[in-house]
Amino acid sequence: MSQPLFKKVAFIGLGLIGSSLARVIIAEKLADQIVASTRSQKTLDDAKALGLIKEGYSNPIDAVQGADLVVLALPVRATQKILETIKPYLSDQTIITDVGSTKGNVVEAAKAVYGENLPAGFVPGHPIAGAEHTGVHAGKVDLFVHHKVILTPLPSSGDWAVNKLIQLWQAAKADVICMDVDKHDEVLAHTSHLPHLMAFNLVEQLASREDNFDIFRYAAGGFRDFSRIAASDPHMWHDIFFANKKAILKAVDGFEKQLATLRQLIEDENSQALMGVLGHAQAARQHFNHMLANKPLMEKNKVTQQFTILPGAKTFQGKFTVPGDKSVSHRSIMFGAIAEGTTRVTGFLEGEDALATLQAFRDMGVSIEGPKNGEVTIHGVGMHGLKAPASALYMGNSGTSMRLLSGMLSAQKFDSVMTGDASLSKRPMERIAQPLRAMGAQIQTTGERGTPPVSMMGGQNLQGIHYDLPMASAQVKSGILLAGLWAKGETSITEPEPTRDHSERMLRAFGYDVKTEGNRISLQGGGKLIGTDIQVPSDISSAAFFMVGAAITEGSDITLEAVGINPTRTGVIEILKQMGADLTVENERIAGGEPIADIRIKGTRTLKGIHMPEDQVPLAIDEFPALFIAAACAEGQTILTGAAELRVKESDRIQVMADGLKTMGIDCTPTDDGIVIEGQGKAGDWSAIFTGGEIESHHDHRIAMSFSMAGLRTSGAIKIVGTETVATSFPTFTELTNQAGLTIQVSE
Ligand code: NAP
Repeated sequence: MSQPLFKKVAFIGLGLIGSSLARVIIAEKLADQIVASTRSQKTLDDAKALGLIKEGYSNPIDAVQGADLVVLALPVRATQKILETIKPYLSDQTIITDVGSTKGNVVEAAKAVYGENLPAGFVPGHPIAGAEHTGVHAGKVDLFVHHKVILTPLPSSGDWAVNKLIQLWQAAKADVICMDVDKHDEVLAHTSHLPHLMAFNLVEQLASREDNFDIFRYAAGGFRDFSRIAASDPHMWHDIFFANKKAILKAVDGFEKQLATLRQLIEDENSQALMGVLGHAQAARQHFNHMLANKPLMEKNKVTQQFTILPGAKTFQGKFTVPGDKSVSHRSIMFGAIAEGTTRVTGFLEGEDALATLQAFRDMGVSIEGPKNGEVTIHGVGMHGLKAPASALYMGNSGTSMRLLSGMLSAQKFDSVMTGDASLSKRPMERIAQPLRAMGAQIQTTGERGTPPVSMMGGQNLQGIHYDLPMASAQVKSGILLAGLWAKGETSITEPEPTRDHSERMLRAFGYDVKTEGNRISLQGGGKLIGTDIQVPSDISSAAFFMVGAAITEGSDITLEAVGINPTRTGVIEILKQMGADLTVENERIAGGEPIADIRIKGTRTLKGIHMPEDQVPLAIDEFPALFIAAACAEGQTILTGAAELRVKESDRIQVMADGLKTMGIDCTPTDDGIVIEGQGKAGDWSAIFTGGEIESHHDHRIAMSFSMAGLRTSGAIKIVGTETVATSFPTFTELTNQAGLTIQVSE
């Protein structure tokens, strides 16, 4: 049997916290022996009856003799006296820790006893867990589970002692954090002590009114939630407020200032600013939760999911609006924020990435309402109205946000830092940082590979440049153009081949003059944007699944409304037409500078295999997984070349699609830059093409949605694994396919 962590643990004080830790030590067999010393004999008797301690002593000296761990689990104000008493009876090897809610004064108390030479075994600590009730009976073995425990090791603390305490608290299933003493007290003053003070204050304010009886009787849930912590022990809080006086007074000052601001906004009936503050607070609350839990902004794609589709779908019909375009959603927030006046956005894609952009602008003081059902209202602050964010801007997984904002932030008066999640933190940022430096920006990336975090130093005067883009990248182009808005003179870019021009189009929609001459794009700095209404077009990449579904299903008739048909994105329409699909583009119009149209597609004729035109490849790059399903249902061979980029998307889309197609009985051969697919279709024959089977999507949303469409022509059940990512780009996918006639069962 392995040795327990400690031989003898002595608790001085055995109330809620001490007895909870004692329960953990017993349950996890972490010590040979537990003893305690408390003020009252009753607590010791009760603790013995509960089986928590072997011996109880009224004198702490008796308890600590021979102990290798002493836990001070009593009010912090008693610390100095206890340490003075027990000091002569402790060895160099004894670990002394405490659980007090403040740390500066515990260290002061220890210094008053030991002088500056504190023992190596002395490591203060603070479990951030509690309950309204105190005493030995209130303790619980699971009190600390998933709670934070802060250890504040001192320069004198030995690693051996710190490590053992980490093991102890980890055995209680707590998350252990080490922090400096001052930082602990400052953080806790804001996150725990101020909220308690406010709760006591609110209850006191209401209780001292004459009509207090009525007020408490009718008090709603908000009061109950907010005042819950005012039921905590007054003695303990009295001590804490004095013990952490300096940091608490600072937090109270900050609170008074913020409250005065809110008071003024209400008095002035300043609706826009009040919405700004409330919206920012609401979003920040959500954002913090996610950041702390290291989770994405949306919970939906947390668990692994799978789709099951049974054979037998007969129709595929209806009029649908698929979700908004991501690229346009990002830009609508960015441009709306720096415009003068209000911008109303409809069709906003409420996905993870665009929400990160939205949060970043809230953090820079922009008042944004929504998103609600795809509607967002942005109260623009003008070209010079962004404010310094209080801390680093968190971009989640969004490379678009980080690259475009690098340009904008380089031109601001204030310093800023952008961070991202683990995956974004590996992506290259020098490709945008280099041209920005040439404009005079002070921008820094991290590590040898030039990855996030990215830091920008404010107050630089940018100068317009001409830049020959070494690679086709709409993000880099846009980042430079955005910096150019604030730069002196002209900023121009030449691109090796045309890339998505959403930034140019939307800048024009906001009244900014951007010139495009061949492959050269230019603008003059120093202008302004005027708020406007932006209808985010439906995303053609999402619409593509429905187009393919309709093209392979007899008698289908699908209309996709208000789809973006930006010429840099319409390869899928051209390729399906070349394959013989019955597809029409109707009701063409312009919205927010972008061309949009309704796309109608009917299942009237069998598709033909083709050699996909290489000039359309960049314009359909995201749509190939869906087009491969169309190719499998076509008559004859389909060949794709010049699409090597498909191998480095969210998955190796050529390989993953080839594997899935083979599983379902389709003969195909992947190549370095494409694929050859032997289509199984026969003119006029609409029977099943696919055999069914289990498909691994590799958590790639486009793979999952493409194979879902194969369900319209399958003879056996199709199971698609790893479909949870579908929610990020197309949250309503299964709802809409079910309405159209293709039933997809979702399970976890
Ligand atoms: P508790 O349930 O009231 O227990 C306090 C214990 O300390 C009792 O056993 C009491 O003895 C003993 N005690 C009090 N004064 C003493 C003295 N002068 N000499 C010897 N023993 C003394 O309190 P608790 O909630 O466990 O809090 C203990 C510590 O944990 C405090 O420093 C507090 O700041 C910290 N803390 C509390 C919470 C919370 O939510 N409660 C959370 C985190 C940290 P008797 O039983 O004989 O009265």
